[in-house]
Amino acid sequence: MKNVLSVDWEAWYQTASMSGRPCPVDPLLYGLESATDKMLEALGKTRATFFVVAANAVEYPALVRRIAHAGHEIALHGAVHQNIGCFSPEQFERAIIRAKHAVEDIAGASVIGFRAPNWSIGTGTLWAMDILVKAGFKYDASMTAAVFSRVRGGIPAGILEIPRSGFGPLHLPYGGGAFLRVYPYALTRRLILNANAAGRSAVIYVHPWEIDHRWTEVRRLDWRPRCIMGFGCDGLRSKLVGLFREFQLGSFQDIFFSRSSV
Ligand SMILES: [Zn+2]
Repeated sequence: MKNVLSVDWEAWYQTASMSGRPCPVDPLLYGLESATDKMLEALGKTRATFFVVAANAVEYPALVRRIAHAGHEIALHGAVHQNIGCFSPEQFERAIIRAKHAVEDIAGASVIGFRAPNWSIGTGTLWAMDILVKAGFKYDASMTAAVFSRVRGGIPAGILEIPRSGFGPLHLPYGGGAFLRVYPYALTRRLILNANAAGRSAVIYVHPWEIDHRWTEVRRLDWRPRCIMGFGCDGLRSKLVGLFREFQLGSFQDIFFSRSSV
């Protein structure tokens, strides 16, 4: 059974831990360009889904094309890296349709997948799902496992929800971000094996800033990004090598929408 590999393509200074503050150093030295190169090199031949922030795609179109030419799926991670709850339904619809078209033009491929920044589709923002259907998305990967367990009956027809992986009665997250960095590799491996034995693909997700984490050396960073985002970055690459060796991984499109799986 194949498991999903995904990359949330945002810069470290765009994350919630940075609270939208501007990049405190030269983004050309510590930003997306070098981090994307390092991420592509770390992935090697393994194909992933890159959820790209449209504003970043417009700023760095050549990077998006490089990702697409390397065989990865291009999907959308919002017009900007802001929670869905920051938008009214009308604002979200306008922004997401424009963003989808902009990214499709840049990538030269259709975009069928969406992941909200910060897993921000939940009970209060379920209206976004109808807008995603209207905009032509075929799958959404924005929900935590805990949220999905509560709202699964409310997902509209025409879109597949593939939530973040979770385990146990509390649907505790695993397989990406801080959880992949903090959990010992043996635990992540066991949880993926358990999901596969139950007939489910696990969803792995990483960020370029976890692979290229020189930003942790930037002075004047407060404790929040340094601790929450920086912890465990050193060991991530070897965990990925282990996952690549032990599991078959692919993009959402490969696993859920290729001819053999339809
Ligand atoms: Zn994100």
